[in-house]
Amino acid sequence: MNHSLQCAKCGESYPVFDQRYRCNCGGTLDVVHDHSALSLTTEILDARRNSNDPIDRSGVWRFRELILPLSDAELRKAVVTRGEGNTHLYDAPTMATSIGVAQVHLKHEGENPTGSFKDRGMTAGITMARHFGMKQGACASTGNTSASMASYAARCGMGAVVFIPEGNIAYGKLSQALAYGAKTIQINGDFDDAMALVQDLCGSEGIYLLNSVNPFRIEGQKAIGFEIMQDLNWNPPDWIVLPGGNLGNNTAIAKGLQEIHALGLIERLPRIAVVQAAGANPLYRAWTQDRDVEPITAATIATAIKIGAPVSWRKSVRGLRALDGVVTEVNDNEIMDAKALVDASGIGAEPASCATLAGLKRLVHEGVIDRDARVVGVLTGHLLKDPDVVVGYHTGSLDGIDTHRANAPVQAPADVDAIREILRQ
Ligand SMILES: *Cc1c(COP(=O)(O)O)cnc(C)c1O
Ligand SMILES: [Zn+2]
Repeated sequence: MNHSLQCAKCGESYPVFDQRYRCNCGGTLDVVHDHSALSLTTEILDARRNSNDPIDRSGVWRFRELILPLSDAELRKAVVTRGEGNTHLYDAPTMATSIGVAQVHLKHEGENPTGSFKDRGMTAGITMARHFGMKQGACASTGNTSASMASYAARCGMGAVVFIPEGNIAYGKLSQALAYGAKTIQINGDFDDAMALVQDLCGSEGIYLLNSVNPFRIEGQKAIGFEIMQDLNWNPPDWIVLPGGNLGNNTAIAKGLQEIHALGLIERLPRIAVVQAAGANPLYRAWTQDRDVEPITAATIATAIKIGAPVSWRKSVRGLRALDGVVTEVNDNEIMDAKALVDASGIGAEPASCATLAGLKRLVHEGVIDRDARVVGVLTGHLLKDPDVVVGYHTGSLDGIDTHRANAPVQAPADVDAIREILRQ
């Protein structure tokens, strides 16, 4: 079979096992699969969902022929899996009513083993690292990538080095990197500085780079889209809405859906909406002004999407065009208001995830998404990833954030009558 790596900028091709992350021209690379000999059906994929084989049970490796260019034997030898994926697709009728759209389902990627969708890319990235015989992996991260990499590396005895920006890292995520034993380097700079450093060091130190510039991570993340389709009995929704930071996830979902559409596993493509934080909106600016992405200094409460120089923007734009997509932006107030609703509905998610609902609301109000649409929103990370923001919101201590949905703890004396009085209010 004739798989390759192809530059998203100039189109140059390289052998798929060339261990490179970028083209000689500097462009990012895509894995181009040769599916000419592939006969995969929805029946096969549905049967795997009921199998006890560990790779069938993974919500990534169930779709293995579409993920990595490895044979079954090579994959089984190298694979590092925690049974990732298999996340819930929640029906969210109260959210649909409050937004004013016919149907909202929420795919909760926070239910992955380390609490974010990053596990889907990481199982693919670490598996490739093992296939290549690498002894150490590294990434720059606003938190969830490092949490995921630290876990998957630890599972197979691989060394892990994470670079995190100073300040502004959510405690749930930092604790995971430390707990799973990664060498954690907090650099004096922002995410974009950390990213530049790690790319440099991986080249010179022979460490495998596991940021989303790594083309195989994107391949693993395609499985979010596959699983949404499978959850919906292969009947695509009208829209998939998700937040955008480095823009790897929307790239992955669009690429995967185009591939299974070409294979005939779905009959039509959904549209895609990427939601950026207004303070971290380089794609939104470029999209609305019809120009290339230019780096900005990012600022938002949603640390997972606080990225000013998105690595995957070129691939992302290509996917948006192919799926007739749109890009919108929401401010931190809108994000936190949507988060209060998602949390109070009993589902809950971290701030970046809730940009999805805030963006959906905006797009419905603007008439971009029709009121009779069937929408799937992706919740990208778990509620407990960022406990400080949650407590800050509900105690009204977040600077500049309107907290009218706050559920503040009530101070009470240790006295049964006083408490009875509080309960009756
Ligand atoms: C990484 C991440 C994002 C952003 O995804 P990109 O692929 O970088 O656009 C959004 N939400 C959460 C919780 C994340 O961990
Ligand atoms: Zn190139």
